[in-house]
Amino acid sequence: MLLKLIHIANALRTQNEVSYYTDGSCEGQISTALRSIRHQPKINIGAAFIVEGFEELFAFAKLHDWASSTRAELAAIFLALLTAPPSSSVTIYSDSQCAIQLIQKFLSNQSTRAWLKTSNTLWTMRIITLIREKHLNLELIKVKGHSGIALNERVDQLAKEGAETGYNISTFFTFNSNHVRYFPHFQNIPIEHKFRRFIHTAFQIKAEAEWALLSRIEERLENHRFWWTASWAFFTNITGFRCNRSVKHRLWSYGVKAFHRLLPLGSLLTQRRPDLYKTLGCVSCGSDFITEIWDHFINCPGLIQARSSLYSQISRVFQNLLSKFLTKKQPNMAPWILR
Ligand SMILES: [Zn+2]
Repeated sequence: MLLKLIHIANALRTQNEVSYYTDGSCEGQISTALRSIRHQPKINIGAAFIVEGFEELFAFAKLHDWASSTRAELAAIFLALLTAPPSSSVTIYSDSQCAIQLIQKFLSNQSTRAWLKTSNTLWTMRIITLIREKHLNLELIKVKGHSGIALNERVDQLAKEGAETGYNISTFFTFNSNHVRYFPHFQNIPIEHKFRRFIHTAFQIKAEAEWALLSRIEERLENHRFWWTASWAFFTNITGFRCNRSVKHRLWSYGVKAFHRLLPLGSLLTQRRPDLYKTLGCVSCGSDFITEIWDHFINCPGLIQARSSLYSQISRVFQNLLSKFLTKKQPNMAPWILR
């Protein structure tokens, strides 16, 4: 990789003006669906540039961590600038408005605060340093992606190739600038992300992991014994409420308890207050010998009445919904279908 870059730099040594096409590629699946939780997401990030007028001069590389297309675009611009002759005029054609704006923003303003509040800081910082050290006169031009510009299509291909087979380039925080003398890291990886959001996400993941490892939850997760569609439908329906209505509040706490199988059934009461409930059987079916565990609660013969009234209520509600829906969608057919 280094040799290749040196070769390109040598070939361009005598040029006063150089134009590059750069592109990044970030492909793969970042799935948020729970069912894929056990599959490692596979994301390929690549960066490439090609020199206009010297189409045999190109390079590509592969990146890891912090999958983002802007990051890939920035890395591509950085690689290109590495090969630019000192004090030359450089034109960069990129299809990333985002990358262009980032560079322009930091060429004019470099407060530490601004650095730490932006994503992809390290790559941008490197580009800025490079521009200053090499005294480059840089012009960034936005091209429309996939609009048939031959070199842009070519560099797009190269970036994809880089993502697959390119040399691995990583970002380490190895230098000091006047503005940023320290940089946050997580397990030796620089946090090239909005710092506040990173912390927020990290804590959220911790909470979720703790929840998933609860003994009640872990076993059911392992055996896929959650019916997520129905559970989410229930929870999303009542989230975002402020505890200003007791009906909703009760529904929420009932739902959460039922979901975690923490309804105060006989078995739980016996655990909590053995002094009171030690000899408690099932209240619903009047048996003294049965402990009211979850499975019994679902099948208890004493609750047949309650279950059947629940069933008829649900079917009534469903019938109403169906007739409303049909009357709205198929007013002519509705009476006939509903008969
Ligand atoms: Zn019972």
